[in-house]
Amino acid sequence: MLSVPGLWRLREQRYRLIGSKCETCGNIYLPKRAICPKCRRKGKIVEFRDFSGYGKVETWTVVHSAPEGFVDQAPYVLAIVRLREGPKILAQIVDVKPEEIQQGMEVYKVVRRIQEDSPEGIISYGFKFTKV
Ligand SMILES: [Zn+2]
Repeated sequence: MLSVPGLWRLREQRYRLIGSKCETCGNIYLPKRAICPKCRRKGKIVEFRDFSGYGKVETWTVVHSAPEGFVDQAPYVLAIVRLREGPKILAQIVDVKPEEIQQGMEVYKVVRRIQEDSPEGIISYGFKFTKV
């Protein structure tokens, strides 16, 4: 079981991008890493929250048969977004028709409803991306 502070942290991560930065080489990681793979023991890792929220679509897929809780949203687009700060994340693209998605399309982070009904009743909102 997660402790209450653990749950809150989990929730915060649904709304915000929280990664880590290596102050030695300047690389930014998402999700967080405890060790910089480039600098290893010389790396100094700090928490990084200053993501601009902007990125570009690298690749994407259109999901037609959605899992339970997402059925009302199908078809929807899942994309690999390369953030301006460097890391890539997998996220849903909203308010754009699947046929309008293009490689390199600029997107930014928005907070949206994730599920119709969250079975845990805890997390039903989180971040997604939309066209700039
Ligand atoms: Zn480093």
